[in-house]
Amino acid sequence: MNPLLDLIKETWFTRRDIVSDGFDQVLRRLAQEVPMTIHEYPSGENCWTWRIPEKWTCDEAYLAPLSPAAPSLVDYADHPLHVVSYSLPFEGVVSRQELLQHLHVHPRLPQAVPFVFKYYDRDWGLCLPQIQRDALQDDAYRVVIRTRFDPGTLKVGEVVVPGESRQTIMLVAHLCHPAMVNDDLSGVVVGLETARALRSGGLPGDTLPVQAFGPRLGSGQSGRLYYTYRLLILPETIGSVAYLSHHEDLIPHMVGGLFLEMLGSDAPHALQGSFIPASQADKCFTSTLPALDPRGYCAPYRTVINNDERQFNAPGVRVPMLSLSRVERRDSPTWPYPEYHSSLDTPEIVSEERLQASLRTTLGLLQAWERNLYPVNQFKGEIFCSGQGIWIDYRVNPEGHRRLFDIMERCDGEHSVADIACELGVSFPAVWEVVSLLHSKNLVGLSRTPQTTDPHRMTTNP
Ligand SMILES: [Zn+2]
Repeated sequence: MNPLLDLIKETWFTRRDIVSDGFDQVLRRLAQEVPMTIHEYPSGENCWTWRIPEKWTCDEAYLAPLSPAAPSLVDYADHPLHVVSYSLPFEGVVSRQELLQHLHVHPRLPQAVPFVFKYYDRDWGLCLPQIQRDALQDDAYRVVIRTRFDPGTLKVGEVVVPGESRQTIMLVAHLCHPAMVNDDLSGVVVGLETARALRSGGLPGDTLPVQAFGPRLGSGQSGRLYYTYRLLILPETIGSVAYLSHHEDLIPHMVGGLFLEMLGSDAPHALQGSFIPASQADKCFTSTLPALDPRGYCAPYRTVINNDERQFNAPGVRVPMLSLSRVERRDSPTWPYPEYHSSLDTPEIVSEERLQASLRTTLGLLQAWERNLYPVNQFKGEIFCSGQGIWIDYRVNPEGHRRLFDIMERCDGEHSVADIACELGVSFPAVWEVVSLLHSKNLVGLSRTPQTTDPHRMTTNP
């Protein structure tokens, strides 16, 4: 059984433009997988500095030679990407020279139809493989583009997984890339499956190496999740702006987030930091990634790929949202991946195995987040380790010995597990292992908020 890939194969070829019947149809299908609220925002409504676009429909579009008997050269009926998303309607005979100004090809893939959108910069256009464009030799061609702009509603699907606290982690994926898979359906199905796992009894214990996390410490008191999680499935950018501008009351509770996309290709996981690199979300996720994907890498905000995390990190919102994707390094000639924004981004380039690995990575990051507590020392002075049975012999394991002391020294109620991990350059699970050992010996308590135990800060010296 391939649950993630099967859902992709079922839905990928539908035309899912930002406000369109195809988008709504796929979102309704996804809502059958997990309970989802679908928010609607009407065309023409202002959201902060933006405006909700009209619904766009393409009934028919083709490019044909003038001879009435000749078959069409490019036809929307063959592939949804043959028409520019939000193309204006157009019908007429145009010279080859004029036509070329409205034809779009992929910059890198001569055999592929490119994904081109003109949501706000209105024009008509068709997309085709470069080899096909270069073969156009006639003086004139017939163009038919029957598109409609009607009042509609932009839809945002929201799955809420309530935790003990109102503090919320946002998971976001966009669904508006017609007939493409890695970008963007792969992030949607991983997000959906993440929400389903969170709903069905919290975080499974086996996403990270079990010995790393030990008992289910750090999730809520009752064994439930401590944090609330909200997954949003939306059209890129305008969907985030529409949701945020209608939920300003929730923004103060959003303590972090993760944008998901491009999770089916073979590249290593790339974790892009937020606008606030010192945030707990940044520290926690970046120090956890190496334990989940040894090939994975972290990079600063806006240096891997740009998506909806921009709207969450922006002024007036400032939610530290990172992004998780599988993207080649920026200097690669095929960045972010070879089939990007083209008709070659099909189910064939993603695999169930890689999607499942990305699901485990996402869950592992959230598992760490639930455990990102402040260890509060119940001891004073340095711990008598051999007396407590936690001595690591420096002659046998010098690194373990040093690490134990480095971590214990920072268990002062003011450093979270993630703070300690980042300060020492040690992975989050490695720090958690020591902290949970100390906790099992009643040497530290675990707090959700910083609790200073430094006597100089607890008294008011004259
Ligand atoms: Zn894209």
